[in-house]
Amino acid sequence: MQISKWKRIVIKVGSALIAPHGNGCSSHYLLSIAQFIVRCREQNIEVVLVSSGSIAAGSHLFPGEVKNIATKKAMAAAGQTEMMATWDKLFDFPTAQILLTHADLKDRERYTSVRETLFSLLEYGLLPIVNENDTIVTDKLKVGDNDNLSAMIATAADADALIICSDIDGLYTANPQVDKKAKEIHVACPEGLIDLYLEG
Ligand code: GLU
Repeated sequence: MQISKWKRIVIKVGSALIAPHGNGCSSHYLLSIAQFIVRCREQNIEVVLVSSGSIAAGSHLFPGEVKNIATKKAMAAAGQTEMMATWDKLFDFPTAQILLTHADLKDRERYTSVRETLFSLLEYGLLPIVNENDTIVTDKLKVGDNDNLSAMIATAADADALIICSDIDGLYTANPQVDKKAKEIHVACPEGLIDLYLEG
């Protein structure tokens, strides 16, 4: 689908762009992403933002080697406020926070409620900013990472495109920063669409 035909998109921003210097939130990368969001809205493209980075944003408030789960959740709780404040300052329209777990997207009633809230926010011109609810998340409830969460939100919001902004330059078979054998995937296509893609 051509960009000019997009009606609604989801943009996911990774932790490395939110707090790149390990010292709280920085607008270094966020400024140009915010400008892109403003341009999209000027062209009547609705935007839902999925923002990681609460743990990264809050970690500077918990000095030393504290890496247990409870402390990470505390980092997320503190960093989420700082992250929302940083995003909010970059826009002259209001933002709104949505925190979710996998359980919320798996349950039909809650899923519908998430959709209704998203659509209502978009209808009134607010920018929904979604993150996983790290305080109540457990291994069982975890979506995985926010790349997965953003894909689920793109589906829930009936989005035409999902744009993932990160410090990795493409889609890989594994994390290229860890696995030297990771290969870049140039085209990812749902199974049923592969033939269509090759024909087209
Ligand atoms: N919810 C986590 C945070 O805000 C991010 C998880 C992820 O990016 O995978 O720090």
